[in-house]
Amino acid sequence: MTYEDLVNTITEHAIKLDKPRLQRVYAFASAAHEGQLRQTGEPYIAHPLFVANTLASWDQPQPVLEAALLHDVVEDTGHTLPEIEKAFGAEVAFLVDGVTKIGQVKLRSSVKAEFVENLRKMFIAMAKDTRVVLIRLADRHHNMLTLDALPLIKQKRIALETLEVYAPLAERLGMGQIKGELEDLAFPYLYPEEYKKISKLAADHFERAAATTGQAIRAIKTKLAKANIKAEVKGRFKRKYSLFKKLSRPEIDYDFSKIHDLVALRVITQTKADCYAALGVVHSLWRPAPNFGVSDYIALPKPNGYQSIHTKVMNHGQLMEVQIRSVDMHYQADYGAAAHSLYSDAKNHGASEEKLKSGTAFKLKKKMAWVEQLATWQNQVKNSEEFLADLKLDALSERIYVFSPLGDVFDLPILSTPVDFAIAVHGDLGFHIQSAKVNSRLVPLDHRLNNGDIVEIIRSKVRHLPNRDWLRFVKTSRARIEIKRALGLTHLDKAPK
Ligand code: MN
Repeated sequence: MTYEDLVNTITEHAIKLDKPRLQRVYAFASAAHEGQLRQTGEPYIAHPLFVANTLASWDQPQPVLEAALLHDVVEDTGHTLPEIEKAFGAEVAFLVDGVTKIGQVKLRSSVKAEFVENLRKMFIAMAKDTRVVLIRLADRHHNMLTLDALPLIKQKRIALETLEVYAPLAERLGMGQIKGELEDLAFPYLYPEEYKKISKLAADHFERAAATTGQAIRAIKTKLAKANIKAEVKGRFKRKYSLFKKLSRPEIDYDFSKIHDLVALRVITQTKADCYAALGVVHSLWRPAPNFGVSDYIALPKPNGYQSIHTKVMNHGQLMEVQIRSVDMHYQADYGAAAHSLYSDAKNHGASEEKLKSGTAFKLKKKMAWVEQLATWQNQVKNSEEFLADLKLDALSERIYVFSPLGDVFDLPILSTPVDFAIAVHGDLGFHIQSAKVNSRLVPLDHRLNNGDIVEIIRSKVRHLPNRDWLRFVKTSRARIEIKRALGLTHLDKAPK
């Protein structure tokens, strides 16, 4: 990786560039790391160059690339932050500072408090500026690529931290591409035996699936062309770690015939309308498989902003998954929050508000609210280790989207209940819960909500205290906190288990 490679990537991605300035930043970073070597034996500057290059491939603007070039300068060389600010301005210094501060996030299971405290710092940094986390993700990605050079014990720790913290973070930021890569990079270090087993088992299955898919791709290309729908069609292989997780589920137990998306077909259209047109074409070629149905994540995006239509069809007696999305949605699925900062950049450059709202930027803005909430709550109750551990689970858990009867969207951890919902809507609503309806049906209060549910809380006329039993099933830390506070229990109290 050289400086010229970086400039090439910047040019390829049409990122606005002040070349003399970038050259100055590079010269500074290069001089600062002079004589330092990476564990791989390379000159150290190759690392910041690689990180900056990754960020350029995510279309990030110049200040982010500059901060990437400088990201290890304060930590690893004699230079200080004020020096950087003096030389390159406040914005770049702010980013470098943010990256340095969250650079110490270390997962040590033996010192949970420390880990959680570090995670807290990360959320605060994220709430302030997502760009800082993008730089950290790119940094971690390169460190994972060169993990071989480190001692075994460090490899395990870093791989575990990647799998438990960085990959879920990337997922939460809607960055499917980097999430998948981080998981697959960590996999062989953490589960070497399983990794070998999966690689060996999967090879044959992938080959066979690829052959079937090849024919299917040709068939669908022809049909789409006849229908005058401009689209790209390709196959995508399921990633190894994701395959491993699925195969290890008890109901699957390494039975490949139960994995229906080993190779999925991906149809990438120009417009959203064409997605639905393409769905019609797909179903005219192959019947949708009974009982599997179509998931319309365009009408109902996943909590991290993911949009696509997924359908499972019968192709020669075999289930085949087809994923249909527009070019924009495809970009969004891979780059999520990185695409978001792009949008705000577009906004600064005069894109119309309407256009921005029609795109994904609007949804993503809403989505980031959880980061801000976490940062504030954690400030309020710094000292409760239990509480912080809850928050960690909240933040990194899988999420669902549910709706109020008026169509407001709420982003909750998986397995949340109507009580979690009520308290998320408004703390006070927790004092007025009489009963709850999900999709117009009455449900018990410990009912587990699903993605896309419409949740209605039937309000009691009289305000009453929450029920202590609710602590047994609520899922969000916010609900837990509010209930305990209302009942006069401190947050240090253990919930009845
Ligand atoms: Mn680094």
